[in-house]
Amino acid sequence: MKASPAARPDDANECCPPSLGTGNSPQSRQLFRFRRALVAYVDNGLMLLILILMSDTLLIGGVFYPIRVVSPSMMPTFNGPRFRIPCARCGFPQTWCAATQSLPECLGRAVCPNCGSRLAEQRREFATIVPKPAYFVGDRVLLLKGIWRGWRRWDVVAFYNTGEKGGLTLKRIVGLPGERIEVRAGLLWVNGQPQPRPWQVQRAVCVPVWRPQMSDSFAIRLEATSPPAHSGTFSIEHPVTTYCHFHPVLDQQEGPTRNLILRFRIAEFSPGTRLQIRSDLGTGHIDLVLELPSRYSIRYFEHNDSEQDSEGEYLSGELPHRVIKGDLAISLVDQRFLFVVNDGVVAERDYATKPLTRPISRPFQIAVEQGSATILELGLWKVSSYLDAQHVNNFLPGYYLLGDDPHISIDSRHFGNVPKGRVIGRVVNWPFARPTSHMNGG
Ligand SMILES: [Zn+2]
Repeated sequence: MKASPAARPDDANECCPPSLGTGNSPQSRQLFRFRRALVAYVDNGLMLLILILMSDTLLIGGVFYPIRVVSPSMMPTFNGPRFRIPCARCGFPQTWCAATQSLPECLGRAVCPNCGSRLAEQRREFATIVPKPAYFVGDRVLLLKGIWRGWRRWDVVAFYNTGEKGGLTLKRIVGLPGERIEVRAGLLWVNGQPQPRPWQVQRAVCVPVWRPQMSDSFAIRLEATSPPAHSGTFSIEHPVTTYCHFHPVLDQQEGPTRNLILRFRIAEFSPGTRLQIRSDLGTGHIDLVLELPSRYSIRYFEHNDSEQDSEGEYLSGELPHRVIKGDLAISLVDQRFLFVVNDGVVAERDYATKPLTRPISRPFQIAVEQGSATILELGLWKVSSYLDAQHVNNFLPGYYLLGDDPHISIDSRHFGNVPKGRVIGRVVNWPFARPTSHMNGG
């Protein structure tokens, strides 16, 4: 029995329908293949278009209809600061003014975190500086929504804010439904346990506060001498407070802080070099010793009322291979010591100490105990402490959300938890709206 080709034109094995010409000539076969390919292209294109249209409501928001940043408290994280103005006295490339302040209002209060000079006294210089706008409230972001549901702690989400200002607002999730949340002593507590911010969050929210020199090529050469002398040691004598330089509001409380991050690179070293980085906690210290190029050890000391320091536990291990010329960081943020190499946490240890009564005068000290090393790109960064909330939230029915800049954030401390249904998506940055890294942005 012979099947008619015209009766099943879509047959995959079909060589050519009669309408295309006479029999199996190469030309007619080619024409048929071309037509079939064209139909497939149109089909796929339509599918793609439908998918994209669906995605804007279900999967990804912000592709066609812009979703705009309306929360200045998240601007350091997502859009960078508003203005980058180098300090007229020291050249520190600090960022001043969040979105809610006018420039004169901001400059009237701002203080350089590096040299401490008041910007108001630099007004003559400011006349010649054109502030470089970075990003503003209203910049757009992308949202992962719909099937991406199941938000986790530390995700930044967009939600419908029913509060005074209303609209779509961005905040960071710190508490999940069913948890007990408290903000106390500058820390987040979940079910009675302190919950320090992980490195990736710290990295996103930190702001620069000090550099030894404004030149990127500035290097610190440290060499051990015998007997040990000053030449082998570099001290960072820069007390840091909670003062928010980024958004200097009038009535802000200023106090001492340990929420610091030290970053540097090791450019070169002689074989067998022992490099010690001491982090002063005010009531004790933590020594990180790098036995270059292969090992590290960490030791924790508590200051006692008696003259003798008590020595805590001892951690040690192998250094990652790429420690040389890699990006090294030591974080003391949220009462947890982190040793980070190329964005990977190599070692961590919680420390609990008494509250500080005054800023630490010399938060870090780098010393070469043996051999020699060259340090590059040394800098000090700060992460804001969470500001304490009045109440404890028991067994949350929704998400507890906080802003990254607690000084200007209106968040769950004020409006309580946010029901699941009002959270519409997880924020990813609009790929074209921001420099590659806030941390490297200087
Ligand atoms: Zn300065």
